[in-house]
Amino acid sequence: MNSWAQRLDALPRLGLVETPTPLEPSRRQSRLWFKRDDLIAAGFGGNKVRALDLVVADARRLGADTLVTGAGPLSNHVRATAAVASLSGLACRAVYWGAPPQRVQGNHRLAALFGAEIHFTGESDRASVDAVLELKARETTARGGAPYIIPRGGACPLAALAHLRAVQETLAQCAARGVAPACVAMAVGGGATLAGWWLGAALLGASWRIDAFSVSRPAAEARMRARRLAQEAADIIGARAPLDDVELCLFDDVIGAGYGLPSQEGGQAIREMARAESILLDPIYTGKAMAGWLARRAHGEHAARGDSLFLHTGGAPALFTDAAQEDA
Ligand SMILES: *Cc1c(COP(=O)(O)O)cnc(C)c1O
Repeated sequence: MNSWAQRLDALPRLGLVETPTPLEPSRRQSRLWFKRDDLIAAGFGGNKVRALDLVVADARRLGADTLVTGAGPLSNHVRATAAVASLSGLACRAVYWGAPPQRVQGNHRLAALFGAEIHFTGESDRASVDAVLELKARETTARGGAPYIIPRGGACPLAALAHLRAVQETLAQCAARGVAPACVAMAVGGGATLAGWWLGAALLGASWRIDAFSVSRPAAEARMRARRLAQEAADIIGARAPLDDVELCLFDDVIGAGYGLPSQEGGQAIREMARAESILLDPIYTGKAMAGWLARRAHGEHAARGDSLFLHTGGAPALFTDAAQEDA
């Protein structure tokens, strides 16, 4: 085994994620496969739970007793952190941008149910969360606690390393099933998931192209963030990653009216997958990514290339919010 893989294996993990998550063929679309990280059982699942298995193990290694993190009230990451905190006996202080909504719904409701202590910054600016994370961490220390800050949205190099493990896992599943995807499609938010899959393709020589659909930032910015996270992740395990050898297409044409706002195409993709496959996509991430993949297939992008693998990163709690009602 190469030494970076040994160092990756040696990183502490909580062991909350039962792997491998299923790799399933689509029932209706030919040559489409789903990697079901949405089916991770702990904390309602999704890519954020996979990431936190490593991130929170690091917090425990450092003796933390309180996780401090934040994002918007629709955030899967905050809900997942609240769940993983309670599963591992830690407290969770969560910071949401904006003002408290009239109704506590979706992930916000779940985070409260999992026992997170919730604060609002009172400012609609997403970055307003960052200063309050620092403040809540200092407060925790002053009370004699030991805080561990997980950056807004969970975008950190250890999260990317958890997704690098997902690439190892997926390549083994593909080999066992005799599938060789030519394309891996995924949604991109903070970029840790893409960073891990990018790094994985580079280090493991996967021959697939990555089609990454940004749901919040312009493509160039999303690429830069993911590249930085991939580089930092590679540094942790002492790997030299030929990132430029990987074919990565980053799209920002599925964002619609903005991050967190449902789009018509996304809604259509959600309905199509629910009815044809009994697979629940979400209006903020995976619905938009699937809309992008379907549009590209309609343009004949995939026909000649072979199988596609859609990384299902979870997010279904957003279906149970007013914001998603127009999808019904
Ligand atoms: C956060 C999230 C993503 C994007 O992952 P990043 O690592 O933040 O880019 C995709 N899908 C779902 C459901 C998510 O919650």
